[in-house]
Amino acid sequence: MEQEINLLEKSWYASALKLTDRQWLEVFPEGKECLREKAKSLCAEWKFLKEIITESLQHIKNTKINSFTDWFRKEMIKTWFGFRYNFVNKEIRKLNRIFKIDKPTKEKEDWIPAYQIEQARNTPFSEVIEVNRSGFAKCPFHEEKHNSLYTRNNFYYCFGCMAHGDILDFVMKTRDLNFKQAIKYLT
Ligand SMILES: [Zn+2]
Repeated sequence: MEQEINLLEKSWYASALKLTDRQWLEVFPEGKECLREKAKSLCAEWKFLKEIITESLQHIKNTKINSFTDWFRKEMIKTWFGFRYNFVNKEIRKLNRIFKIDKPTKEKEDWIPAYQIEQARNTPFSEVIEVNRSGFAKCPFHEEKHNSLYTRNNFYYCFGCMAHGDILDFVMKTRDLNFKQAIKYLT
């Protein structure tokens, strides 16, 4: 019984949400203000610790006793303030990273999610050119009077000039767009 519960707990723990601070912030954007407050007070503490450590070390330097006592005094400062100083420093860096990532970067704006590509790719041809009932259209890649561009779903094949591809490729060539612009055009 005990073992089963342990197993259950393990699997529950394994399936639990593991979010970073940044992801939690996306879930609860209200937390941003709290974190800013936290960062502010950590910065104040950091400044205070830095001053006290600098002063103490300076004091030891000015009042040298003997190497053991001086070493011991330095160790005490490390224990009293040094560890806390390192911890505060780490926390501040962590928070700064969160705030930085929180700002939308250029890269993020350029990003195209996979579903959008899929959505663009699934656009039927009838939405970008005039297609007759049997799926034929006038080919934009060669001069012609009769329809020889055959389309089905989101693929095309021209029986006149053998041009072929999918809708994205078609839109890029006929509208002179790059990949990203073609996605935007179609979605
Ligand atoms: Zn053609």
